[in-house]
Amino acid sequence: MQVFGPKELQADVLQKNLCIGCGACVSLCPYFKTHKGKTAAMFQCTRESGRCNAFCPKTGVDLDLLSASIFNSKYSGDSIGNYKSVYVSQKSSSAGEGNVQNGGTVSALMKFALKSGAVDSAVLTGRKGAVSLPEIVTDPEKVFNYASSKYSTSPVVAGFNRAAESGYAKIGFVGTPCAVTAMAKIRSNPTDIEDFRDKTGIVVGLFCTWALDTRGVEKILKDKLDLDSLQRVDIPPPPVDVMIFTSNRRDVMLPLNEIRPVMT
Ligand SMILES: Cc1cc2nc3c(=O)[nH]c(=O)nc-3n(C[C@H](O)[C@H](O)[C@H](O)COP(=O)(O)OP(=O)(O)OC[C@H]3O[C@@H](n4cnc5c(N)ncnc54)[C@H](O)[C@@H]3O)c2cc1C
Repeated sequence: MQVFGPKELQADVLQKNLCIGCGACVSLCPYFKTHKGKTAAMFQCTRESGRCNAFCPKTGVDLDLLSASIFNSKYSGDSIGNYKSVYVSQKSSSAGEGNVQNGGTVSALMKFALKSGAVDSAVLTGRKGAVSLPEIVTDPEKVFNYASSKYSTSPVVAGFNRAAESGYAKIGFVGTPCAVTAMAKIRSNPTDIEDFRDKTGIVVGLFCTWALDTRGVEKILKDKLDLDSLQRVDIPPPPVDVMIFTSNRRDVMLPLNEIRPVMT
């Protein structure tokens, strides 16, 4: 597949409002930056072809090619993707304690992966107020500090790029499907680097249908709760049609209709 450059990335993705803020084009060069879940080009770059464009999940995605490269099989079109088996799970009490979202399997897996050496680092998402931020975690005992879903966009692939640049070679990664698509592109070596090495250890994809725009959340919630101390966000299963934001142990419940305008 032909790889275009930053100019096309801006025209085809950023200017068309298709960017999902995964950060795949960030931490590769000085030009693309991320702030509050949004990506921007700081300066014009004249390269005709670049990793920024090649890694983006919103430029061309050849699912057959990615499936062949990652799973060694044809893309099935199945909504759940390739799998060996399906389990219902939750963490055990000895795995660790934290503010887990839905049973803590993701945190338990990542902690175990770090402890066992299956990964040498883990790119996880923390929160600063309403802003979701990727962090590179190497201490297994710290994994549960990053548990729970931050429903605003996290530029988590920028965290992966940073970890790869820092020399980590078996990186654990947790992300939503768009970010995992970017990871699949990165792992398929789209710019044909001769001595390419896949620097991922384990990639954990989360189910996701939408994320929230950080600035939108700040706007909706600024007069309703102390955003700096935001501790948890939850969506109870249907038919309850609300989102619950918890700060300083106080819950603020908002109907999903009020949240929908800031879904991306
Ligand atoms: C934006 C978003 C939308 C989601 N939508 C759905 C949905 O529609 N249906 C559904 O069934 N599940 C959805 N999920 C997944 C669900 O909320 C839980 O993440 C999942 O069930 C795992 O639970 P857990 O207790 O095992 O995770 P935990 O052990 O609590 O760990 C959560 C992990 O998610 C990572 N994380 C948190 N926020 C983000 C983020 N914004 N981007 C990338 N990584 C993040 C953390 O680093 C942590 O490793 C969504 C998650 C997110 C982040």
